[in-house]
Amino acid sequence: MPMDQAIDSYFKTFSVPPEVVAFVSRPIGHFIDGRETAVAGAELDLVEPFTRRRLTGLVNGTAADADRAVRAARGALEGPWGRMPALERQRLILRLADTLEADAEFLAHLEAIDVGKSISDARAIDVPGAVANFRYFAGWSSKLDGRTAGAVALPGETLTYTVKEPVGVVAAIVPWNFPLQTLAWKLAAALACGCTVVCKPSELTPLSAMRLAQLASEVGFPDGVINVVNGLGHVIGQALAAHPGVDKLSFTGSTPVGKAVGKTALDTMKRLTLELGGKSPVIVTDRADLGRAAEAILAGIFLNSGQVCDAGSRVYVQDGVHDALVERLRAGAEALTLGPGLDPAARITPLISGAHRDRVLDHIASAHSEGAKLVTGEPGTGTRRDDGILRPTIFDECAETMRVFREEIFGPVLGISAFTTLDEAVARANSGDFGLAAAVYSGDVDETIRLSRRLRAGNVYINAHGLIDPAMPFGGLGASGFGKDMGPEQLDGFLSTKSIYVQVGTA
Ligand code: NDP
Repeated sequence: MPMDQAIDSYFKTFSVPPEVVAFVSRPIGHFIDGRETAVAGAELDLVEPFTRRRLTGLVNGTAADADRAVRAARGALEGPWGRMPALERQRLILRLADTLEADAEFLAHLEAIDVGKSISDARAIDVPGAVANFRYFAGWSSKLDGRTAGAVALPGETLTYTVKEPVGVVAAIVPWNFPLQTLAWKLAAALACGCTVVCKPSELTPLSAMRLAQLASEVGFPDGVINVVNGLGHVIGQALAAHPGVDKLSFTGSTPVGKAVGKTALDTMKRLTLELGGKSPVIVTDRADLGRAAEAILAGIFLNSGQVCDAGSRVYVQDGVHDALVERLRAGAEALTLGPGLDPAARITPLISGAHRDRVLDHIASAHSEGAKLVTGEPGTGTRRDDGILRPTIFDECAETMRVFREEIFGPVLGISAFTTLDEAVARANSGDFGLAAAVYSGDVDETIRLSRRLRAGNVYINAHGLIDPAMPFGGLGASGFGKDMGPEQLDGFLSTKSIYVQVGTA
């Protein structure tokens, strides 16, 4: 089918390389057992977020496709991958990191086209973040030792030790906001631990997962180690969560879907990691450097147009600096450039879909009706732009009773409220069900450390927002889920520990 005219002209304006155009305009199938399957039969529409036009077709996968992928993953686990020496595994993962790095421009274009996100962010965050994660975890492949434990109560002479074994076949279900990076967060550690993986990208953003699987195959990963199954979440994701051949489910997505897949996964006693949503609080005290705080707060909420799990979406600011901070945030938000993802100058880009844009607008309308005071941005209903871009929107005088301060919006909307005492700020920041991230801004070191200890969150940023490093575990508390991605802590999620007892002679 010829490419849609609006998309064609969008791509020409930003000189999308021909090889990228070719990749994104063919129908997208699955990647199972080392090869991409052709699309036969019903297709889903893959829509480009800026033009809102159909980019290409996506296979509407079935439970049978998920089953084929799980069988391929099992075959690789019991075959070449399971027998591969750890150093060889390490070498392959490092080679994949190098290949992704060499492919950075291609991958950045895929993310900008598929998600509608800023290509500058894709170049600076998504691709290098994925590469770093593979590099970091490659080294762990050869360091997964058990321990020799001296038995303390057994009679006679014994040798007692533990070994670490891969948990088995992993299903990695990821959302659409950072498709490559979140997949890398799961794949790198799973591969290092010797697991094989079936990936389920969002039906909205399958492109980078398909590219990654293709590149992994080219660098020498055995067939079946990395599989990608495409289609609807409630079909493919559900099939993987229920599949008895899947040993571990690592899910990143919304809290309601996470709860549902978690229940399903427990029916077959899968190991489980849930990285879910957030409503991350930000505390700014009278002692903060306001210039620095405003810059980081703006980046912390408006990166990826607010479609970030740990976005700092509710700001508590102490009375003495309230007016000055609000003014800085207003000016900073109004200075952000709006535009399509392929425009390197654009900071605020289209939301992933029309349906999501409407959900965010609904939140904005409710903030207006619940009495929050608009500082800048969308005035309420009747303000839709055709391109799906929403202006960065800030409300002041918010309260925990309002949806804008309670529910995850996943769009460019920031709520602010003044506080008087630090105890009040901590109590209000810790209210609500989520516990993914929090941030503290203050020039007083003691104050920052004390506040960071009192905040109920898996990640706390001090005088910054959204710092991510492969060596640091990332994950939440409460409605934000459990288990960790990244850091050595993640390895346990992909390993089982076996205890071995040897009786030396007779007891
Ligand atoms: P969803 O929960 O809707 O979807 C996440 C993934 O689950 C997608 O691949 C989706 O597929 C799939 N899925 C949907 N329904 C089911 C089902 N019934 N069974 C199994 N799988 C299913 O989240 P979004 O994609 O909308 O992503 C946004 C959410 O992700 C936000 O809440 C955000 O906070 C969270 N997130 C959390 C992060 C973290 O590390 N804590 C990081 C990034 C995002 P499909 O899209 O095809 O329906």
